[in-house]
Amino acid sequence: MNAPTTLARVRQHLVQLKLACALEVLDDTMDRVEQGQLSVLEAIDILLNDECANRETRRIKAARMTARLTQVKTLESFDFSFQPSLDRNRILTLAQLGFIERHQSVHFLGPPGVGKSHLALALGMEAIKSGKSVYFTTLTDLITSLTKAEREGNLVNRVRYFNRAAVLIVDEVGYLPVSPSGANLFFQLVNARYEKGAMILTSNRGFKDWGEIFGDNVIAAALLDRLLHHAIVIEIEGNSYRLREHAELVPESMQGKRQEGIKPPPKRRGRPRKATAYTDQ
Ligand code: ADP
Ligand code: MG
Repeated sequence: MNAPTTLARVRQHLVQLKLACALEVLDDTMDRVEQGQLSVLEAIDILLNDECANRETRRIKAARMTARLTQVKTLESFDFSFQPSLDRNRILTLAQLGFIERHQSVHFLGPPGVGKSHLALALGMEAIKSGKSVYFTTLTDLITSLTKAEREGNLVNRVRYFNRAAVLIVDEVGYLPVSPSGANLFFQLVNARYEKGAMILTSNRGFKDWGEIFGDNVIAAALLDRLLHHAIVIEIEGNSYRLREHAELVPESMQGKRQEGIKPPPKRRGRPRKATAYTDQ
């Protein structure tokens, strides 16, 4: 008569503690204990394990929503053999996330379709799994958001919001030109994050084009000064994965391959900063 009462109380406690997963497997697990298939310790292990696994899944889901990582891209689903110019070990080292601790900027450069966004999203996912906060945006969306905040007198809070993420991913730098005021706002954010938080940027344009992208050489130089210090630059020189089955339909001049001017600009003049630009991990 004792066991059913105890079981009912355990069930009640699991409800009270909101341990829904453990509750779900309780009856089945206790049946297996009674049949001698499991020890009591193994039963406790199963209950806790299911609960923890479920919580971790929920945590990751919520963190992905906050980070706006709506597309699920992983390193496991990235076919390195398709991109021989890419050093797999360099990417796997990045996935150990030391660049986050060191507040470094990671640049993925290359023509469309070579996997820049995929890798940025996959690193974001690794960061989330290890408990880091992430925020994913395109440069255009980021500037739109900062512009709106400035108009509403809320820029300081908005910059603070973007700075809260341990990793800020800015996708698609260079696809669309940026207005001078947009460039200025982006600089304010980059400057506020400088040496305080990691960033991942993707671009189809070389650094030499940044003056054109941001409509101003002075602001572009100031941006690059921050974003190339402690930076890890990964160039991808291959073909578009999107076009892998239809490459022959696209004129050769429009296919990615090697990009002109994607190399970083010469080092800045004057007193050097603490470390050289382009330091690798
Ligand atoms: P980019 O940002 O360089 O323009 P994406 O990262 O958006 O390119 O890649 C385009 C599409 O191809 C995405 O769906 C991406 O997941 C996929 N993709 C690109 N490269 C690879 C690869 N090497 N292995 C698997 N999928 C890839
Ligand atoms: Mg992309």
